[in-house]
Amino acid sequence: MTAVATQPIVFEAEFVTVQAVVDLSPHLRRVTFVAPRIAEAVTAGPDQRIKVLLPPPSGAEFTLPSGPDWYANWCAQPEADRFIMRTYTVRELRPEQCEMDIEFVLHGVNGPASAWATNVVLGDSVGLILAFAVDTTSAKGLLNSGVDYVPPSTSKHRVLIADETALPALTGILEQLPPDVHATVFAQVPDERDRRPLPTPGTADVTWLNSDDETMPLLEALKAADLPATVDFAWVAGESSMIKAVRRHLVNVVGLPKPAISFQGYWKRGEAIG
Ligand SMILES: Cc1cc2nc3c(=O)[nH]c(=O)nc-3n(C[C@H](O)[C@H](O)[C@H](O)COP(=O)(O)OP(=O)(O)OC[C@H]3O[C@@H](n4cnc5c(N)ncnc54)[C@H](O)[C@@H]3O)c2cc1C
Repeated sequence: MTAVATQPIVFEAEFVTVQAVVDLSPHLRRVTFVAPRIAEAVTAGPDQRIKVLLPPPSGAEFTLPSGPDWYANWCAQPEADRFIMRTYTVRELRPEQCEMDIEFVLHGVNGPASAWATNVVLGDSVGLILAFAVDTTSAKGLLNSGVDYVPPSTSKHRVLIADETALPALTGILEQLPPDVHATVFAQVPDERDRRPLPTPGTADVTWLNSDDETMPLLEALKAADLPATVDFAWVAGESSMIKAVRRHLVNVVGLPKPAISFQGYWKRGEAIG
């Protein structure tokens, strides 16, 4: 058996400080973090995932994870003593300024991350688990590095489907779309004022929808759309039951092969996701 060489992937935790807070729209708040070590941080793609760490609810000491066994040790602690961990997207990384932006959806104070972002003030500190080395030499390397949007290089017509939590990733994906690629985009936000320009060097047709707790506007819009046979890749990210229903439609009705669909549950209605 031939051993396949892979490049090392390094994720490490750092404390970072809030340097700026900008409300982009009623439900999306951009927070800029600063720390000397951000100068060495890297991303593998426009939907790079990272972890935001908040202090344990019990008031227990907040120490950053380190070493190969950190996750097993974290799981073994009583829940109230564990630091809180949530997944977010690197919206923009500026290593030369030691800065990183995350766009938080403000969905209320029913979850610790949204509550933190709702009440954030300049100078606040959180922990982040960031990538310091990624493997961009293969699709597997990219996936292991924390990105899920990995279209084949031959893809020329992509369907991109996102709710508000995936709007930061969608914005980055469109900013990096190659000039000869077309995207058919369906994007859903809680409020019409959360809609935003989505500039791209490629081409895109964008359908905006309003969130609705009872139905799945993204699925309904997709069903109503007459997707051309040229579509060769789909990226779907957002609420868990939505992405599953959309994937079923893409496979069973649109006829996309399963490997041509990247689908990611970013949150689960009624449940906290660590
Ligand atoms: C790869 C990846 C990338 C992500 N990137 C981003 C990002 O860039 N920006 C971002 O805001 N989120 C992003 N998310 C989603 C984010 O991790 C979840 O929304 C998470 O649940 C927020 O944590 P919380 O502590 O606020 O709420 P939790 O404690 O997890 O949940 C508490 C309650 O809030 C509800 N809830 C969670 N999210 C929402 C929502 N959006 N609208 C309504 N109710 C909600 C849950 O159903 C639950 O009932 C990403 C998730 C993944 C997996």
